[in-house]
Amino acid sequence: MILIDGKKAAAELRQELKHEVTGLKAKYNKVPGLTVILIGDLTPSQIYVRNKEKSANEVGLKSEVIKYPDSVEEKTVLEKIKELNKDETVSGILVQLPLPKHIDKQKVIETILPSKDVDGFHPTNVGNLSSGYESSVPCTPLGCYLLIKKVEPNLNGKKAVIVGRSNLNGKPMTQLLLKENCTVTITHSKTKDLKAECLEADIIVAAVGIPELVKGDWVKKDTIVIDVGINKTDKGIVGDVDFDEVSKNAKALTPVPGGVGPMTIACLLKNTIECFKRTQI
Ligand code: NAP
Repeated sequence: MILIDGKKAAAELRQELKHEVTGLKAKYNKVPGLTVILIGDLTPSQIYVRNKEKSANEVGLKSEVIKYPDSVEEKTVLEKIKELNKDETVSGILVQLPLPKHIDKQKVIETILPSKDVDGFHPTNVGNLSSGYESSVPCTPLGCYLLIKKVEPNLNGKKAVIVGRSNLNGKPMTQLLLKENCTVTITHSKTKDLKAECLEADIIVAAVGIPELVKGDWVKKDTIVIDVGINKTDKGIVGDVDFDEVSKNAKALTPVPGGVGPMTIACLLKNTIECFKRTQI
């Protein structure tokens, strides 16, 4: 079985991006800039943002974190986003989710210029992705896609089963694999026989949030299994895939941690650079 090393893949991607940033700096005499807005003091969000800033610095991006307390008014955040939309030194804007209840997530997402939407959540980018046009692609599914392509560069005609239909993971994952000519089945909590669906798959992407949902006897030999889940349990952090069981059957499998997670941040940097390049003439 191939253990898909997301840490290594992310380090390689960061290295490529670092070279690219050096080239862009030489060509344009400026570097792409990423601005992250962090609201409140949730520990996981703080850790994510710190890691994003560290990785952005590592590849040579200009990086900035704007922090607000939980009590910040929605209009203050929206005004700041509008200001950043006009700032030419800012290529990408990311507002770390989740947001406090009094702030409307959709309003925040839609205030970010689509051309600076490094998370790929703006409806314009969602529409462009599903129409097959150029767009920012949400970072986690993009990371999954790059990991799958490392194992299997030609996905023509493969049967992919996506477990979970969130806007963040399942839906964009579907679009990326459709573009690669996979036959895609998207499953969710109302799917009648998830095991039977998974047993048909050459590729399974599990993004559910239920510890070890995907069992060993749900996976046929030669399947590539990507585990997006991050679940805190008594035995530590586990994914949505039963790693011990599935590793006996699968052709390739991502571990949790050390699989999809590191690629998510590397893809954020990639998206920032893509946003920068699209605005240069
Ligand atoms: P989400 O928005 O809660 O969506 C979960 C999806 O799973 C929903 O579509 C839901 O179906 C489906 N589902 C729930 N129970 C199911 C079942 N028994 N069988 C089949 N499908 C079921 O979750 P998310 O934001 O996509 O996150 C999923 C997981 O990925 C979480 O563990 C999260 O922490 C993790 N995650 C990891 C990264 C990373 O970088 N590695 C990034 C983001 C998220 P319905 O639509 O019918 O409710």
